[in-house]
Amino acid sequence: MIDHVAVRSEVPLAPLTTYKVGGPARWFAEPHDLEELRSILELAPSNTDVTVLGRGSNIVVSDRGIDGLVLRLGGAFGAVDTTGADRVVAGAGAALPKVARAAASAGRAGLEFYVGIPGSVGGAVAMNAGGHGSDTAAVLEEAVVVDLRTGALSKREVESLGLSYRSSNLTASEVVVQATFATSSGDPEVLEERLREITRWRKEFQPGGTLNAGSVFKNPDSEAAGAIIDRCGLKGMSVGPVNVSDVHANFLVASHDATAADIHAFVFEIQSKVFELTHITLEPEIRFLGSFDGSGDEQ
Ligand SMILES: Cc1cc2nc3c(=O)[nH]c(=O)nc-3n(C[C@H](O)[C@H](O)[C@H](O)COP(=O)(O)OP(=O)(O)OC[C@H]3O[C@@H](n4cnc5c(N)ncnc54)[C@H](O)[C@@H]3O)c2cc1C
Repeated sequence: MIDHVAVRSEVPLAPLTTYKVGGPARWFAEPHDLEELRSILELAPSNTDVTVLGRGSNIVVSDRGIDGLVLRLGGAFGAVDTTGADRVVAGAGAALPKVARAAASAGRAGLEFYVGIPGSVGGAVAMNAGGHGSDTAAVLEEAVVVDLRTGALSKREVESLGLSYRSSNLTASEVVVQATFATSSGDPEVLEERLREITRWRKEFQPGGTLNAGSVFKNPDSEAAGAIIDRCGLKGMSVGPVNVSDVHANFLVASHDATAADIHAFVFEIQSKVFELTHITLEPEIRFLGSFDGSGDEQ
């Protein structure tokens, strides 16, 4: 125990990710508020590697797990405040669909696109999550960021976060704890209909109910990654327990017996086949956490 916050060892991470693969965290804690987060950071040995997990919807955790402290923001970090006149303030642990629904029912417009993205607010800032014609950069006003090495807290205006297509300039030693979104007024009924429309679109065009982490590759400027993979004749291709979705070729779907190594190998196999056929190098959008053999985009 660190103060009243439990730091547990060898905690399985697979259930905390959408691919449901990967090994344990050497150390794991779920601080419920800023005070608990700071207690953990103050008392952890200074050379501890710290990894922040959101809702695990854009990552693959190594089968060997993560050798360090893994933090997941719980409790009060899941709060969403829609009472501000033109703002929505959300804790970084809040699920994006919850933010979208809370904003819509309070008549705050602009965050509807989050309803189809199964990540957290912190993950959305780190990845500049987006879709349906918007992204986090377009709606975020500022984020509160804690330096994992010093515990120092800073308010970062959106311009200082370097948000670009599915990336930010946040470093591995920075954790977003809160975000403020600028919104406009809207009719809750109209906004809720927009949520239903987005949800219907997702059901039709994405492989719902499967093990995946959304789009695996970033879209190059020229064309959507899924269209390129499809054009290469790879839609439906499988190697062992991982396959290219028949519904959306940029979704690589795992079966229940897949390992992180299977997914990692398949991602780079697709990348290399696409390169052979088109000379386009698809860059992974998903992040590999922990150590993987061979080439890869590891953190
Ligand atoms: C079915 C499906 C559909 C998807 N559709 C979309 C889509 O339309 N658009 C889109 O952009 N993405 C989409 N995604 C991907 C994913 O949901 C987003 O990238 C999301 O923003 C990731 O958030 P997360 O909380 O799950 O982050 P995680 O996957 O847990 O982590 C991703 C990265 O963010 C970092 N991170 C997480 N929380 C914090 C924090 N508090 N502070 C600092 N860094 C943090 C992690 O360290 C990691 O590097 C989809 C995924 C799935 C499974």
